[in-house]
Amino acid sequence: MKQFKTESKRILDLMINSIYTNKEIFLRELISNASDAIDKLHFISLTDSNVDSNFKIEIKVDKAARTLTVSDNGIGMNKDELEKNLGTIAESGTLAFKNKSEEKTDLIGQFGVGFYSAFMVAKKIEVTSRAYGEEEAYRWTSSGADGYTVEKAEKDKNGTEIKLYLRDKDEDFDYDELLQEYYLKNLVKKYSDYIRYPIVMDVTKSRVKANPDKKEGDKDEYETYTETETLNSMVPLWKKKKTEITPEQYNDFYKNKFHDFSDPVKVFHFTMEGNVNYTALLFLPAHTPFDYYQKDYKRGLQLYSSGVLIMDKCEDLLADCFGFVKGIVDSPDLSLNISRETLQKDRQLKAIANGLEKKLVQEMKKFMESDRETYDKFFKEFGLSLKFGVYNNFGLKKEELKDLILFHSSTEDKLVSLKEYVGRMKADQKYIYYACGDSVEKIAKLPQTEILKEKGYEILYMPDNVDEFVVKTLMNYDEKEFRSVGAKDLGLESDAEKEEIKSKEEENKPLCDFIKDALDGAVKEVRLSRRMKNNAVCLTADGEISLEMEKVFKAMKNASPVPVTAEKVLEINPDHKIFAKLKSLYDTDKEKLKNYAKILYAEALITEGMEIEKPDEFVGVLTDVLSE
Ligand code: ADP
Repeated sequence: MKQFKTESKRILDLMINSIYTNKEIFLRELISNASDAIDKLHFISLTDSNVDSNFKIEIKVDKAARTLTVSDNGIGMNKDELEKNLGTIAESGTLAFKNKSEEKTDLIGQFGVGFYSAFMVAKKIEVTSRAYGEEEAYRWTSSGADGYTVEKAEKDKNGTEIKLYLRDKDEDFDYDELLQEYYLKNLVKKYSDYIRYPIVMDVTKSRVKANPDKKEGDKDEYETYTETETLNSMVPLWKKKKTEITPEQYNDFYKNKFHDFSDPVKVFHFTMEGNVNYTALLFLPAHTPFDYYQKDYKRGLQLYSSGVLIMDKCEDLLADCFGFVKGIVDSPDLSLNISRETLQKDRQLKAIANGLEKKLVQEMKKFMESDRETYDKFFKEFGLSLKFGVYNNFGLKKEELKDLILFHSSTEDKLVSLKEYVGRMKADQKYIYYACGDSVEKIAKLPQTEILKEKGYEILYMPDNVDEFVVKTLMNYDEKEFRSVGAKDLGLESDAEKEEIKSKEEENKPLCDFIKDALDGAVKEVRLSRRMKNNAVCLTADGEISLEMEKVFKAMKNASPVPVTAEKVLEINPDHKIFAKLKSLYDTDKEKLKNYAKILYAEALITEGMEIEKPDEFVGVLTDVLSE
């Protein structure tokens, strides 16, 4: 008996203990796997005439033995594949387990544990499979979390047969239902109707018994017989008219096809006609896959040529930043023997890709306008990906994406678009103000935001590392420049006010310079501030590198051979009572002023969420001052 990998075992335990209440979905999972396996062989059959292309999926019931069997004549699995595919659930092994029970359903969804869902209804499963082109068949058997065995078996043709030994009835479910023809028929109709290959089952029917001696007035006699019936309509969902598809059908199709346990937040279904014709059925998922932001995340759309699957994850149809979109594209204009290598050069595919992305952006804008609440939810899951898209490739896609991104607003306390922001700018407002920091809560408390808030200006809060890069890439929106709340000039003062400030600055220059020297090169300048109300000090930066960027680079170890540091400016609020104190110390006790300078600088660092550079020295200074 072989053991499942540890992570697999845990998921299996969850599955067996049936945390997912909708047990019947196991059938669509098995049928979908069978259909995938046939797709793979179908593709081979285009160039290999030895393939028996009488493809089908069979459901068999044995009431006496209480077994249900789903078989296919697809590509099959050899011994290694049986072990590899069915012995491990999540291959990557990087499972970030969530332990809260309410998140368990989500967890299952994240891994696409299709096959294993059969353990919700089966106490034992036998998978007998023979890979296409091989002579030998093998049988994988498991009764759940204890482990599995693999042994040689007999099977006369390629394909896979999955036999479920049903569980005994319990308070949750009467598993005997799964032996009833009508029940299975309904399940297939409900979840797997569009599957492209016939799903067949022997069904019992009754008919009038033939009676050559029948006389006037004789009653008809009936007999039962079995007939193999195809249960599904086989029309791919995307080929049906939009008006004939219910939201449930879209949702079921999505969950089934893309192994998600949650409904998508949005469905886009459209057909484009022109130089190249295609139909696209695209979905925006409700949740970020656990590995979405990892390097090896496989994105891409399923690519069909007139209903024949030619590629499972075609990456060339949409840019990276739309990697979250799931769906299919079907075009009669694509050649069937397209391969990964020839694909990139394919003219038709390029034409599709061009049109598809434009259309997707249009549809997403419509989505944002028509159902903002849901769009916000979607954006919370995948907004980061769109923001990366703005900044990637030197802003190649910034025009396309700028109206799809949202930021947290200081005045609205919710996500707003740049269009909305600019649309309600005050008459005298010159810039789009933004503030970066670790979180919305922390940014809201930044001293730099005080004066803008008092004057009633809206500020965009930017807590994500990528935000500032987005701003730098966009530079402006609707001809309004972005301006950080820490920028030297916020464009708030009149000329007269500017003059006044200037003379005040000159007057206090010796004091500021003294403080700067006391800080021993830590700051580029010490300045009187114009942006604070209640706080005494704050830190800003001159030049291209902001304080946030310094933090980002610091967090990415080895990002740059030389440390990336901002040109820091310590700003002091001239209206704060500490300022009078500093002035008087300048005249009476310069040594003490040095200590005050160091403490105030540390305060500014802390408010900004930055580290105090030499904590031991700082602690010494603080203790000295307190001991006086
Ligand atoms: P998923 O379908 O999400 O990959 P599953 O656990 O359902 O996950 O299946 C694991 C793998 O086992 C599949 O990716 C496929 O390679 C293989 N497999 C499952 N069912 C079949 C089948 N009927 N024929 C051939 N291979 C199969």
